[in-house]
Amino acid sequence: MAERTEESLRADIVEIGRRVHARGFVASNDGNISVRLDGGRLLATPTGVSKGDMTPDMMVVTDMDGRKLAGERTPSTELLMHLEVYRSRPDVQAVVHAHPPVATGFAVAGVPLDRAVLAEVVTTLGSIPIAAYGTPSTPELADAVRVYIRAHDGLLLANHGALTAGKDLFAAYYKMETIEHFARISLTARLLGREHLLSREEVARLQGLRGTYGIKAPAPICADDMPPAGPDSPASCQVIQAPPGGGLRLVPDAADLPPAARRPAVPDDDTEIRLTYRELTALIEEAVRSLKS
Ligand SMILES: [Zn+2]
Repeated sequence: MAERTEESLRADIVEIGRRVHARGFVASNDGNISVRLDGGRLLATPTGVSKGDMTPDMMVVTDMDGRKLAGERTPSTELLMHLEVYRSRPDVQAVVHAHPPVATGFAVAGVPLDRAVLAEVVTTLGSIPIAAYGTPSTPELADAVRVYIRAHDGLLLANHGALTAGKDLFAAYYKMETIEHFARISLTARLLGREHLLSREEVARLQGLRGTYGIKAPAPICADDMPPAGPDSPASCQVIQAPPGGGLRLVPDAADLPPAARRPAVPDDDTEIRLTYRELTALIEEAVRSLKS
């Protein structure tokens, strides 16, 4: 990486702050961004300001323990989590943390983004696991991040948000964009009721292409018999849901279902539809409500 001046890094943080705010990845003063400076120092966003409304002079310079070296403002309390990433990953130059709503919805639901469905995501991030819940701004959260960050460039944080790491500020930011975009697509596919997974062989092929695109793999794919990652055994590989062979349908196509289970998306007038008692009650209640209003 070409050496960037501190001035240009400050400008990059301001620009990325604008983007995370404009894209709705944060509300109010949420989120934080940091980048390594030379001499074992960090440049980070301050606490208590909207990321959409920063100026270059607002940034704080700290050491690698988070102690302030320069700047008028206070470093973000979530800096602990960034420090953990830098400690675990000497290759990482920048970290972005935000609360993008769809990805955070997955983090709240406890659903990791680890299914092989998009070639782009398999190639760049691989899988996006969920780090266990830790109270924001406490070492608990840094501990949870430590479990996954060696083997992943992007994490969901349970009941909180997402974290990405990269070789420079924009690389970390674009991974945040990719996570939210992936989450939106995954949600849409699940609402549509089908999610076709790429095969394990295709995943291996895609990861093999990384060299061609100059993408550094965060970690290899875990073998099936690998024990799950935990506080005492940080992940050294990625769990990716990809079935061996020709691919798997998590939700079968209608044609594969027994006739009784098929329900047309738009029923014909004379098609029998089946409702549960609860669905029927809800429909009647809704009808009564609209009559009254
Ligand atoms: Zn946060």
